[in-house]
Amino acid sequence: MTTFEIEPGRLFVGGQWREAADGARTEVVDPSRGAVVTTVAEAGAADVDAAVRAAREAFDSGTWSGLSGRERGRILHRVAELIRENADELARLESLDVGKPISLCHAVDITNAANDYEHFAALAHSLDGAVRDTPMNALAYTRREPIGVVAAITPFNFPLILAGSKIGPALAAGNTVVHKPADETPLSALRMARLLQEAGVPDGVVNVVTGSGPVAGEALLRHRGIDKVAFTGSTAIGRHVAAVAGEALKPVTMELGGNAAHVVFEDADLEKAVGAIIKAFVFNTGQFCMGGPRLLVARPVYSTLLGILGDAVPGVPVGDPRNPETVVGPMAGEKHRKKVEEYVDLARKEGGRIVCGGERLDLDGGYYYRPTVIADLSNDSRVIQEEIFGPVLTVQPFDTEEEAIELANSTPYGLASGIQTQNLARAHRIADRLQAGIVWINDWAMLDPAVPFGGVKDSGFGREYGPEALAAYTKVKSVVVSLD
Ligand code: NAP
Repeated sequence: MTTFEIEPGRLFVGGQWREAADGARTEVVDPSRGAVVTTVAEAGAADVDAAVRAAREAFDSGTWSGLSGRERGRILHRVAELIRENADELARLESLDVGKPISLCHAVDITNAANDYEHFAALAHSLDGAVRDTPMNALAYTRREPIGVVAAITPFNFPLILAGSKIGPALAAGNTVVHKPADETPLSALRMARLLQEAGVPDGVVNVVTGSGPVAGEALLRHRGIDKVAFTGSTAIGRHVAAVAGEALKPVTMELGGNAAHVVFEDADLEKAVGAIIKAFVFNTGQFCMGGPRLLVARPVYSTLLGILGDAVPGVPVGDPRNPETVVGPMAGEKHRKKVEEYVDLARKEGGRIVCGGERLDLDGGYYYRPTVIADLSNDSRVIQEEIFGPVLTVQPFDTEEEAIELANSTPYGLASGIQTQNLARAHRIADRLQAGIVWINDWAMLDPAVPFGGVKDSGFGREYGPEALAAYTKVKSVVVSLD
């Protein structure tokens, strides 16, 4: 049993809490025990319609878009403060929902979510246009205006952060939002609805509809009252979302799957690199779009590094997310663990050598899987080419820089990438040629709201964070004033 209250588990529409129109509810499971902890309302099309109408009304009324950027920024600053003031509760909710170690929730999810809102609060002040020099006898200037009602659809792995990475810039720019969190992990979205209201975000400006992708997500996506879709999730669903939005000529941002390569050269500081390599594939139990599940190692240090990993990875603490010593918690659901098992079985069939791990960990009925290192697979193996989204690292040797680049760029994805080398010129040379939205050098997952991120190729398009994010939530209007 949880020792704190989870409430209210209803839909948040127009500033009011309500049950789904047909009374449907869905269960929320604690992945560390495989036990139902609560239920939340399951939205249908009628509920989504009500949420979009509330968001439209709020947008048209100007209660939010009519505020100055400075006033919106002040309220978003308050949101950041409230996240920090409620850090313990939010961390426990996120841990309970996703299975993340509670220490990770504090250090990453809560800290980043608060920093992100603060970042967008500051950007709200800088929504300026430009004066353009023309040969006309006219004053020509641009204005950046909000787009309208934003549909924010988010995945299960970083619920709080990925909701904030959409709601933050959407609100900073003056839009209103309907948020559909993943049906597996809805709890922090509901808690945030309360905090946003408490911070002073007017009713109807942010609405939360919990429910399934095929029903609530689809209804939201297809609703004619939506002006923009901000989606984070798998490439498969992203393709569908982009196609539907494209047909309706709605702008979209697409943050999709990843399968990053982590390239280690023979001149790397191996002792330091090992920490980054392990972090890159076990962080969030490998359920990390920007994780580094493909390790490419220069042949001279290949055996040494594989030996170090074989010794170090079994020592990574896996277990109860409530234990502050835990580094790797359970996977977020049994379906995710099954998927990992299928890929590891496939690796065995394809001649892969399991260096360590390769099995589930039976603990308290939770969905645990041991961090796993696999060598000796060929590059065309599905285990290397596809996104596993679990604590699995494949290791491949390379002989030349050219081969490293070719292997790194050989999957359909292009979200993140990493290089370990002491050679500065090589680091920049390789970074230039890696097909990825972000490249880390000599560490992994260095993230900050000032630094834009997003994908290329099948990892999507558009950028979250930085001023780039704000631009994606505005439309530009040109005004030309005759001076005759
Ligand atoms: P997913 O299955 O694609 O789901 C993402 C969201 O889309 C969920 O809210 C889902 O609802 C909803 N959805 C499903 N079908 C829909 C439909 N027909 N119409 C509208 N919405 C629909 O992804 P996931 O398994 O939750 O998350 C893991 C994936 O997200 C991985 O591929 C990962 O790489 C990617 N990801 C990318 C980033 C990034 O920044 N690029 C960040 C995090 C995760 P339900 O939950 O109800 O199915």
